[in-house]
Amino acid sequence: VDETVVEDMRRLEESFKGISQKYRLINRIGEGTFSTVYKAEQLTPPADLDQENDDPMEESEAEMPAAKRRRTRRKAQIVALKKIYVTSSPHRIMNELELLHELRHSPYICPLLTAFRHLDQVVAVLPYFRHLDFRLYYRDFLINDMRHYFRCLLHGLRHVHQAGILHRDIKPTNFLYDNARRSGVLVDFGLAERQGTDWQPCLCQESGHRRRERFMNSYAVQLLQSTQDLQSQSYPKNDSRPSRRANRAGTRGFRAPEVLFKCTSQTTKIDIWSAGVILLTLLARRFPFFNSADDVDAMIEMASIFGRKKMQGVAGMHGQVFETNIETVGERGFSFEKIILWASCRERTSDTLRRGEEQAVEFLHGLLELDPHKRWSAKEALHHPFFTEPVE
Ligand code: ADP
Ligand code: MG
Repeated sequence: VDETVVEDMRRLEESFKGISQKYRLINRIGEGTFSTVYKAEQLTPPADLDQENDDPMEESEAEMPAAKRRRTRRKAQIVALKKIYVTSSPHRIMNELELLHELRHSPYICPLLTAFRHLDQVVAVLPYFRHLDFRLYYRDFLINDMRHYFRCLLHGLRHVHQAGILHRDIKPTNFLYDNARRSGVLVDFGLAERQGTDWQPCLCQESGHRRRERFMNSYAVQLLQSTQDLQSQSYPKNDSRPSRRANRAGTRGFRAPEVLFKCTSQTTKIDIWSAGVILLTLLARRFPFFNSADDVDAMIEMASIFGRKKMQGVAGMHGQVFETNIETVGERGFSFEKIILWASCRERTSDTLRRGEEQAVEFLHGLLELDPHKRWSAKEALHHPFFTEPVE
């Protein structure tokens, strides 16, 4: 273990009263914007947050067969300690712990064992989940591996979404996957929120006809129609339109189109889009697949794939206007099949996808659907032949 990591772990043990009596820190395993995560050995059993004790996992050690006892004991011993930075607001920390606690009953979500607070510091304790870094395996994943990966991920999302919660930050580092065991768990509910938080009606909620009517009457469209040359157009000086505020939380490259277009009535479907980005990454074997610096760049990246026409359609759906004079953005974009063939250097016209890949691409269409109303829910996705009638 690195010197600076040892020093960092020592500081935590010293500053956080009681931690060193309960856990022996082993290593630092994650460092992000809002937290540092350590691997640790548990010295005493943690206090149970769950008072009801209705969990079948809770059977007493004496009742278990010896093999299971060994397994359970080993599982309970190694934990992940997530030290949440004091710069994170108390409300935010509370939100993460509360949602994790609420979601603890799914095997596809890493459960919160307990949490400690010392002054302004908070440490969440989760069972340690063995996994590999995505960068180490995304190039070698077979279609069948993707099937198992997505089955776990979508089961996790189904549970989160059924509870009316948006994860908001679905990406490889927040889904811990162990290919050897073919199992995975969702982590990091730091940006999660209940559906409906800050909800405002968005144009996308209205029927097609009403939407078109409202859109054509919108200020933005009138502005566009009143000028011949878009390029010479400047921003209006006295813009009386209220500025649009929408939750943009998430990670660049994984944001759904409705997040980019500042939709004010975002739903759990934003997580399905992000899952789709992971699938496209695996199929194209390119990571990160999208690599934009900001939301405008992200729209351009999206437009180069889906084409200008479809992007304008989605923009309009959320009451926005999308225009670009960038030449690489074509009118119609490219099919996923083309993109995957290019990415894997199979660009001769005679090259086609293998049957398993074809099925995965057909599945991908339901996830990377620009219109959140047409995009599948986790439950719908799990019923796809990709899982029920797998083709190799
Ligand atoms: P952050 O909010 O800083 O992104 P995360 O909860 O995503 O925090 O954790 C950061 C990293 O720590 C994860 O990507 C993962 O590598 C590791 N990690 C988190 N929880 C666990 C766990 N229960 N078991 C093993 N590793 C974990
Ligand atoms: Mg994370």
